[in-house]
Amino acid sequence: MRAMAKPVINHRGPEFRELYRRILNNLKFVFETKGDVFVLTASGTGGVECAIRNILSNGDKIAVPVNGVFSERLRNAVTAFGGKSIETTIDWGSAITPAQVEDLFEKEKNIKAFAVVYNETSTGATTRNLKEIGKICHDHEALFVVDAISILGGDELPVDEWGVDICVAGSQKCLMTPPGLVMLSVNEAAWKIAETARRSYYFDLLEYRKFLANYETPYTPAVTLFYALDEALLMMKEEGLQPRYNRHNLCARSLYAGLEALGFQIFPRPEFRSQVVVAANYLPKIDDKKFRELLREKYHVVVAGGMGKLKGAMFRIGVMGIVSQLEILTTIGAIESTLLDLGHEFEYGVGSRAARDVFARQSQR
Ligand code: PLP
Repeated sequence: MRAMAKPVINHRGPEFRELYRRILNNLKFVFETKGDVFVLTASGTGGVECAIRNILSNGDKIAVPVNGVFSERLRNAVTAFGGKSIETTIDWGSAITPAQVEDLFEKEKNIKAFAVVYNETSTGATTRNLKEIGKICHDHEALFVVDAISILGGDELPVDEWGVDICVAGSQKCLMTPPGLVMLSVNEAAWKIAETARRSYYFDLLEYRKFLANYETPYTPAVTLFYALDEALLMMKEEGLQPRYNRHNLCARSLYAGLEALGFQIFPRPEFRSQVVVAANYLPKIDDKKFRELLREKYHVVVAGGMGKLKGAMFRIGVMGIVSQLEILTTIGAIESTLLDLGHEFEYGVGSRAARDVFARQSQR
């Protein structure tokens, strides 16, 4: 927030070029890529639109596994621009496996790209084995596109090592920056396709590449948000990627333990549980609106509700960016107090104890 208080500079001048150069270098560190990276002034959906439009020509087939609201939107981006979406429906709370991806390519030929949401924010399910999935895509000469909007910076994603051709990340999630920026990585294989695709106007990646040579963007960037992103990336470098992923993992495990001790059923299947979004079904007789309102008004803890068909049935807790034992134990404590206020019968303290034990065991290691 302090970084954003600086005066706004000319986005065609040397100070901006220096700022953008540093941001791009540090983004390459976070994406773990030697490919090109870009920052667009748009929300996450703009990044998804950009990724799809720059590889799509009319009638092209793009495969999208659909397991929640954001993968539905990714699928919609394909059809909105004249693509043919090859859809694999996966249970919400699960995610596609390499065997299912293999099956998909056996059944359907000439797939131009396989596009997946790494972390389905609407269900708290993370797609695992992306490296294997990437290899299957390349074996079938398809591009591998990853919507990592809600997870980049909170769980591992070495873009080059996992063969991700286009990766999209959002500023407002694990990158600790306010909403309004979206980051993309693009490799050589993706450029080859982009050069022949029917592209976008505002999101034309070839224009962005042209201006990148001079560390500028084709259109006016949200300079103030760039300041915030710059600072956040410096913080991420200071912490280091692996310690950061470990911290998210520990915080998520603590929350899962606390919620389960309170009797909540975790929404995703265990093997797909996210370490950046924790989603749980409501206990019987606990009303979504009342629960979240009390939590927010009385205890100042904001959690999200369910989305789409899960509205009212579950709630979701973000474990993203600036998160530590303090926030986790505060959240679990507030949830216990709210349950008590709502007249739920349970052994008060059992959730906090379970959550705290996870941290205690870690510090004894
Ligand atoms: N994809 C995923 C996985 C998301 O979590 C979100 C937002 O939460 C989006 C896409 C859309 O991003 P935005 O709302 O910033 O446009």
